[in-house]
Amino acid sequence: MATDRVTAEYGSLIFSEAVMQQRLPKPTYKKLRRVMDDGEPLDIDIANEVAHAMKEWALEMGATHFTHWFQPLTGITSEKHDSFITPKGDGGVLMTFSGKELVQGEPDASSFPSGGIRSTFEARGYTVWDPTSPAFIKDEVLCIPTAFISYTGEALDKKTPFLRSQVALEKQAKRLLALFGRHPNRVLTSIGAEQEYFLIREEDFQERPDLVLCGRTLFGCEPSKGQELDEHYFGAIRPTVNEFMKELDDELWKLGIPAKTKHNEVAPCQHELAPIYEQGSAAVDNNLLTMEKMKLLASHHGLACLLAEKPFAYVNGSGKHNNWSISSDGYNLLEPGSDPEHNLQFLVILACLVAAVDEHADLIRASVASAGNDHRLGANEAPPAIVSVFLGDNLSPVVEALINGTHSEAHGSELMDLGVPTLPDVIRDNTDRNRTSPFAFTGNKFELRMVGSQQNISDPNVVLNTAVAEQFDRFATDLEGVPAERFKAEAMSWARATFKAHKRIIFEGNGYSDDWEKEAEARGLANLKSTPEALPAIIAPANIAFFEKYGVLNANELTAQYVSKCEQYEKLLNIEANTMSYMVRHLYLPALIDYSGNVATSVATKTEIGIEAFAEREIVRTLTAGIDTIYAAVSDLEAENKEAQAKPTPQEQCNYYLEVVIPAMEHMRRTVDAMERLCGNDFWPVPSYNDMLFYV
Ligand code: ADP
Ligand code: MG
Repeated sequence: MATDRVTAEYGSLIFSEAVMQQRLPKPTYKKLRRVMDDGEPLDIDIANEVAHAMKEWALEMGATHFTHWFQPLTGITSEKHDSFITPKGDGGVLMTFSGKELVQGEPDASSFPSGGIRSTFEARGYTVWDPTSPAFIKDEVLCIPTAFISYTGEALDKKTPFLRSQVALEKQAKRLLALFGRHPNRVLTSIGAEQEYFLIREEDFQERPDLVLCGRTLFGCEPSKGQELDEHYFGAIRPTVNEFMKELDDELWKLGIPAKTKHNEVAPCQHELAPIYEQGSAAVDNNLLTMEKMKLLASHHGLACLLAEKPFAYVNGSGKHNNWSISSDGYNLLEPGSDPEHNLQFLVILACLVAAVDEHADLIRASVASAGNDHRLGANEAPPAIVSVFLGDNLSPVVEALINGTHSEAHGSELMDLGVPTLPDVIRDNTDRNRTSPFAFTGNKFELRMVGSQQNISDPNVVLNTAVAEQFDRFATDLEGVPAERFKAEAMSWARATFKAHKRIIFEGNGYSDDWEKEAEARGLANLKSTPEALPAIIAPANIAFFEKYGVLNANELTAQYVSKCEQYEKLLNIEANTMSYMVRHLYLPALIDYSGNVATSVATKTEIGIEAFAEREIVRTLTAGIDTIYAAVSDLEAENKEAQAKPTPQEQCNYYLEVVIPAMEHMRRTVDAMERLCGNDFWPVPSYNDMLFYV
């Protein structure tokens, strides 16, 4: 029996391994395990028994409803609650839940984005149980993680492609490992997603329509102080924030989410939570639940949680570091080897990764593209939009030596026979962190730092998994059939050739520098700074062929993803433009008219008694000119936004937002912010950056 609160409560809200073992008949449990572990099909008898046990457990936990919890193309989660009740006929009810209800659901899917899939096929979509991710209880609702697919079986969600990409990676990894004499049962990715977020006072949040409607400030002049004193990072945590963090930990632990590290981040009011890494699909689901809990629990403490990538100009934005590795029956394939044989395997896998990122940099970039992330990538606080790989001080000389066929004793690595370098031990405790790199090797995992804070982490992981699967496939295809005595030498020269061919993607320097932009261009690396420029890669013919080859996404599904990402971009910007014009017309203009009127009255009064009031005249003049500028700017913005909405295709809409509407929004903001600097606090209609970021 657990003796402390945390061990007693940990995982208490999930239908866990332990609960299943306890509540399912042994043969049923064994069959279910085979479904979960080996992907065996699920028969209805088993489903009925599991459903029954799940329901009994959920009822004991106080649940009244169940839901198929899924991740439509918007990336956030969706749920529709059905109660367990079935009328008995005598006025009473029974609580029922069948295997069929567990396995499959049919949400009224017409309002979810389908990127055109459903209109060309069938209106209906259905949800299918994903037994690899545990069911859990949330607010008296039994939540069943599901995939959401169209009637014809095409993915309408984020989970389906993710699960398929795991299958592809596992299959190719097993082929590769077999050549090294290893035959694992399971090869899965491990993912740890560090989540950044902001917390501000709820009352400030409520007073700002831009925060309420768009999740980020669209206006606001610079605060008197920013993050320049470096006092927030790892600083003492505000008591209210600490209370929030404690409740968050408790709630996450109950859901079996291994929340581990919490601290203040660089920007004022910015924080981070890092869980312990988990098997891929659990990590994806749990990151979504974490974000949901953050938003929900903040209000218990009079706070509002902002997950947007750039809630405030002038200070850092928020991202999500996606730590990624591959686990082969628990052995981390990205762990540098301690003997030549493991070294060889490690170097081959590393070569595969480098090649994967180089060949599909465009898809990696597209997978993290969003209107919010455009404010962050390349803004000297996050990696640039140029994708590159950082290997670190210890590993990069080894790779360099390998490419050049030279020794690099300076770094403690020496080439063994067959040219397999021994890797210095230090690689394994590599703590060298180049924060400016989008994809950095950090000891025994890669860290993709381009992901936006509010993003579903599926997309980038689908690309990574599939791109690496492709390289594993290439290695296996090239090396299968090579006689055993030549295998090591050939594997080594394969790795060497691969590193050589993809050398351009390796970059150890400062990703923030202007020089890197120039150098990257010379190396032929893309620098796609915006979402509209990045998204077309999703439907490039070569990329469609790539995803189709590995059974991850077909042309229709990719089109759906592309269209829905374009729509999200265009819709969000439309909302932001509308919110700007709403705030200008209903808040800022009236406030400025009021304030300038007040000062004008004062000027008039003083003039009457012979006082010149130079400064006040000047203030009235500036404010009035400002009002004129703002008035013109808001009309322009509205006209341009209308124009954008009228464009015939999603891509053209996105382009128009990028090229015309965003500059108009920036101009709009500048005109208002300039007036905020002059306006009296009593007149200013919304909390300022000073108010929001430095509350006590
Ligand atoms: P930092 O902020 O320095 O990057 P953190 O400790 O905050 O480091 O986060 C590291 C993250 O990486 C954690 O979520 C951790 O669980 C995860 N992680 C550690 N090892 C692995 C691994 N082998 N595969 C995937 N993720 C890992
Ligand atoms: Mg990190």
